[in-house]
Amino acid sequence: MDLFEKCYGEEGYFGYLRARDDTYFSRPVLDGLPGPRMVFQGKEVIMWAINNYLGLAGNAQVKEAARQALERWGTFTPMGSMMLTGNTTRHQALERELAEFLQKPAAVIFNYGYLGVLGTISALVGPKDVILMDRLSHASIVDATVLASAGRRFHPFKHNDMDNLEFHLKAASRDRQGGLLIVTEGVYGMRGDLADLKNICELKERYGARLYVDDAHGFGVMGANGRGTGEQLGVQERIDLYFSTFAKAFAAIGGVTAGEEQPVRYIKYNARTNVFAKSLPLLYVEALSATLQVIRTRPELREAMWRIARLLQGGLKELGYDIGDTASPITPVYVPAGDPGTAMSMIRMLREEYGVFVSGVTYPVVPRGVVMFRLIPTASHSEEDVSRTLAAFKALRERMKLDLSSKPSALNR
Ligand code: PMP
Repeated sequence: MDLFEKCYGEEGYFGYLRARDDTYFSRPVLDGLPGPRMVFQGKEVIMWAINNYLGLAGNAQVKEAARQALERWGTFTPMGSMMLTGNTTRHQALERELAEFLQKPAAVIFNYGYLGVLGTISALVGPKDVILMDRLSHASIVDATVLASAGRRFHPFKHNDMDNLEFHLKAASRDRQGGLLIVTEGVYGMRGDLADLKNICELKERYGARLYVDDAHGFGVMGANGRGTGEQLGVQERIDLYFSTFAKAFAAIGGVTAGEEQPVRYIKYNARTNVFAKSLPLLYVEALSATLQVIRTRPELREAMWRIARLLQGGLKELGYDIGDTASPITPVYVPAGDPGTAMSMIRMLREEYGVFVSGVTYPVVPRGVVMFRLIPTASHSEEDVSRTLAAFKALRERMKLDLSSKPSALNR
């Protein structure tokens, strides 16, 4: 059989859409700067599908820092990986600033979040160690776990289920030959619920395990100072390895792992995605440093985000939509009965008739059987954006005669 045969049918992720060369539901072409209003197919839409939590995309202070860095360093400096020729005093300073913000002794930066997850987990977990991973973890965590476990057994535990985590901890302890690493997210990126970090910390301490938290959606967003879900739940100190991408609230690119001095140094020397990859350009290092400064000094951005989030979530609930058990700005809207056809009609009507852009989410991003929209309220949205959106959802409910009581069965896995 020819290797390319699969490319001509409907195999693979979103094969039905790919086969039709779709750019409406998948890979939609969006023009303009990321923000609350964007242009889709020539028409302005209210944008709810980007993770610009604090509205920092296009921030003037950050742009100025980037402009100066561009003048000085171009797009390419430094050349080489951090291990060889890609480390600078500014990289070191950014790592120190991030560590300090996260209240950890040390930090290491990566070029992408995905690479940071892969690098951190696979550097630390060796053949004798065991990973216990929340089943709803992001694809990068799943991939890192598979890579680090290299065909050996790892333990996916039921989402946020402490009994099940303990069951797996016991099983892994029975013939334990090495270390145990529990891996969770802080805020779950699709459901918006928080990891039960207090109880997870209790368990990891009882079983002598370590805890890695990917807080992509909590960093800058959760906690009194935006330090993340650990701060929000009062356990930042007990998280052994705190990780985040810069692709969300920081509106940039890259990732960071923060923790104790020696483990972080070990990661610097052993994370293949850091050791064997070109270092983050200074353009971004300077922009990230400026972004951190804005996040530190402007708590009102988080307040604005929460105000919009409360309005949007309260309004959707009042209309009868199922938004699950989110405890963060992430606002899932579960499509009645998990029906993809209904979802497509809703997306089309929202975009075409009401100028409201939402993205649909299906397997493999969420478990099979779940179809949802994920709305991200941000500090840059206005109350008018919310009221127009709620009016659109209200109209949809009536025009499509949606049965909002019917829930997809796979939701509560
Ligand atoms: N972890 C989580 C939880 C994510 O949502 C994402 C997606 N942004 C990543 C890691 C990967 O980060 P990046 O996009 O920076 O590669």
